[in-house]
Amino acid sequence: MLNYSNRKVVNFYSGPSQLPLEVLEEIQQKLIDYKQTGMSIMEMSHRNKYYMDVHDEAISLLRELLSIPDNYKVILLQGGARLQFGMVPMNFLHKSKAAGYVMTDVWSIEAMNEATVIGETYSIGSKQVPSSSIPHISEQDILKNTAYIHITSNNTVAGTQYHQYPNLGDVPLIADMTSDLLSKSIDVNQFGLIYASGQKNLGIAGVTAIIVNENMLERESENVPNCLRYSKYAESNSMLCTPPTFSIYVMSLVEKWIKKQGGIQVIEKRNLEKASLLYNVIDNSNGFYEGYSHKNCRSIMNIVFKLKNKEMDNKFILEAEKEGFIGINGHHKRGGCRVSLYNSISIDNCLDFKEFMMEFKRKNNQ
Ligand code: PMP
Repeated sequence: MLNYSNRKVVNFYSGPSQLPLEVLEEIQQKLIDYKQTGMSIMEMSHRNKYYMDVHDEAISLLRELLSIPDNYKVILLQGGARLQFGMVPMNFLHKSKAAGYVMTDVWSIEAMNEATVIGETYSIGSKQVPSSSIPHISEQDILKNTAYIHITSNNTVAGTQYHQYPNLGDVPLIADMTSDLLSKSIDVNQFGLIYASGQKNLGIAGVTAIIVNENMLERESENVPNCLRYSKYAESNSMLCTPPTFSIYVMSLVEKWIKKQGGIQVIEKRNLEKASLLYNVIDNSNGFYEGYSHKNCRSIMNIVFKLKNKEMDNKFILEAEKEGFIGINGHHKRGGCRVSLYNSISIDNCLDFKEFMMEFKRKNNQ
């Protein structure tokens, strides 16, 4: 049985994810009486100075960790990534325009389906699912009247990830980074807008971070209600409606934790090491474990693989659970296995799981 400072399981779920223990301990310590205010951060007015400090810190730490340039706004919203599937086209898919969606498995299709409700869309790459690769985008793929191109930077279900983003010239690139924002360094300048919901590497569900180039705000459609406009949230410092205060508080603690670890470069290096530990087991297993995604676009966040049949998958998942490794079943519609290695999964967690995988193979490889 595992024992990482009294935590008896390693949470390999695809999200919500495990939080760093230090973050949970700090939440626990301050939950009832936040900084001698006599109340919890959850109970405070969002205009209260104590909460405002947390709010501003969550935004400024995101800026610092990702080196977000001054001409980008950071917005914190409720509603999850799926709300962004709708808000992006509502604001930027104008009547005479079309939006291109790069097809990389389920989340990209879901995003495109929502945009199709608003206006004209077209797909780049095959809509076939499951999809084990990332299509290359060339100039010919982009229609002349394109409002933006949308990508899913990390495909949580398929276990694929962009390791290089397409260069689209003047056409804005919009990215759903729900499952890899804050896991690696990015050049924000390459994007018109980035969004990510909170429950993977940012903290907990309830908050969605948006990083948007100011020039995008000038392109917003006219006929969008204020509560669905990026500019209104940007102007109000994300205070148009009461922000998800507790989720933003947790996000600020997670960001401080990342900073304490040494920042994004250190986190990225660690994430690469974690993923390569498990991919190495898969690659050297003589087909006992079969990786899903193409090697040139493997995700360092979600490792997707299967064993020789369903029975073996189930046996593997059950035995892993008994050892304290939970959440490794594949997507509910896909089967197989998926091990999600968000930031708070440590190298030790991966070394232990690697050992488990090798031992399981030794015992079951007939
Ligand atoms: N996009 C991606 C890449 C995801 O992994 C998920 C959730 N797993 C979503 C969108 C949907 O996120 P939410 O539940 O916050 O709407």
